[in-house]
Amino acid sequence: MVLRDADTGLEVFLQRRVKAMAFAPSVTVFPGGGVDDRDRQLDPTTWIGPPPSWWAGRFGCDEELAAALVCAAVRETFEECGVLLAGDPDGSALDVSAERLAAARAELVDRRGSLADVLTTNGWVLRADLLRPWSNWITPEVEPRRYDTFFFVAELPPGQRADDGTTEVTEAGWYRPADALADWRGDRVQLLPPTWVSLEQLVEQPDVAATLAAGEHRPINPLIPKVRREGDTVLLSLPGELGYDSAPLQLRPRQSPSPNPPRGGLLPEGQRPPHPLYEKLRPVTATASVLLCENPSPMTLEGTNTWLLRAPDAEQVIVIDPGPLDEHHLRQIAEHGPVAQILLTHHHFDHSEGAARLAELTHAPVRALDPKLVLGGEGLTEGDVVAAAGLELRVLTTPGHTADSLSFVLDDAVLTGDTVLGRGTTVIAQPDGRLSDYLGSLRRLAELPEGLAVLPGHGPELPDAGAVAREYLAHREQRLEQVRDALRQLGPDATPRQVVELVYADVDQVLWPAAESSVRAQLDYLRA
Ligand SMILES: [Zn+2]
Repeated sequence: MVLRDADTGLEVFLQRRVKAMAFAPSVTVFPGGGVDDRDRQLDPTTWIGPPPSWWAGRFGCDEELAAALVCAAVRETFEECGVLLAGDPDGSALDVSAERLAAARAELVDRRGSLADVLTTNGWVLRADLLRPWSNWITPEVEPRRYDTFFFVAELPPGQRADDGTTEVTEAGWYRPADALADWRGDRVQLLPPTWVSLEQLVEQPDVAATLAAGEHRPINPLIPKVRREGDTVLLSLPGELGYDSAPLQLRPRQSPSPNPPRGGLLPEGQRPPHPLYEKLRPVTATASVLLCENPSPMTLEGTNTWLLRAPDAEQVIVIDPGPLDEHHLRQIAEHGPVAQILLTHHHFDHSEGAARLAELTHAPVRALDPKLVLGGEGLTEGDVVAAAGLELRVLTTPGHTADSLSFVLDDAVLTGDTVLGRGTTVIAQPDGRLSDYLGSLRRLAELPEGLAVLPGHGPELPDAGAVAREYLAHREQRLEQVRDALRQLGPDATPRQVVELVYADVDQVLWPAAESSVRAQLDYLRA
């Protein structure tokens, strides 16, 4: 598990494997792989940090295997994501050109040499001090392929970057452990049990230093999960959990990844480049493409999604949410015109600020629920049908995030603005957001026909609006219950801030002001 400290906390590098791989196709994993014979050739003089005897003690194996495990971890990390846990013999960090590093990597990937060869020819040493042991997983007996796997944590060395330059991976990136888990719970990524359990362990770690310190001493006992399948659900229990050795199991219910999850109106993955992709028109359904504005922030995720809708043979295009007043972005949108209409999901600046300028550039009318935003056209309200660009969009009023929030329903998708996001949850924005309205809007979305893709204001598209709305409702109920609990502890007059500090202790403090806004809405709702 390669780690780094980001502004929003600890991040871990994850890769999605290509479908053709025999083991765990298409799942998202940490870089890693098996020990091979080349890993047993390392000369102890090309090693600094805890010696093999220390690792042998931690892993409960002999020194030779311990050295090979560390060597394999370093080699696989280098091969799979380009991060080399090595340095100069005096203990300083690697200071080499990208070309030289790439050449060394190719030598390993092509199996022309061993890690020992690569270190020796370049005058580098393995930096065992950059890694710590973390856990040992043994695949359960029901799996046809069994692995005995040692997990390590390692810090991304300064000046190096992790990439997806291996044929085993389709995409890769840095994730906050909590975000990766949320994607998994939302069925947007597939994780194997050791990965999600490890991510859950990382969620508890504030930063890289603390994680490495924890790895120094944590007990490494072999974990052999017990697995039971009940219909679609995989039930898993781990040693140390109540009932591991006796029925009934302490269950961790989890939907198994269905082979053909509902894809809604989404294009097949090959035809649909992955989110995020800035300022390049990215097709998402047969009629909807997105132009992602480069205005990332904790509140806008990777940025604002500007949606461009057009029937396959239509000349004109409907623009939904031009985004902020960003001349470059607005000109990009205009280039994909002619624009028939500009529609706004709500008044927030990250969606609407550029509307007037885009209208100027394209001579298209701006339409929204809030009359103040309407320009050269008609307003929009519940039940309206926007017919343009060869399409018909049905307007749903979905207040809650703001009072003027709209959603637009197509045959195969629904544009949700900030009512439903591609990742994370929506804020009930003060002063005009109302939780009671929001719950009502989610119930409306939950009743939409099955298989309508979510085309959100921020974050990636999702396959099924109804399913996501039901997930949001469950999440809201859970948060309300937590706020009720907090009020029981803090007294009925607790301030939003006090509640946030209790309920959102697990959430990055950067997001506390936004959480406070949501909690204020929850308190209003509960006190009403
Ligand atoms: Zn927004």
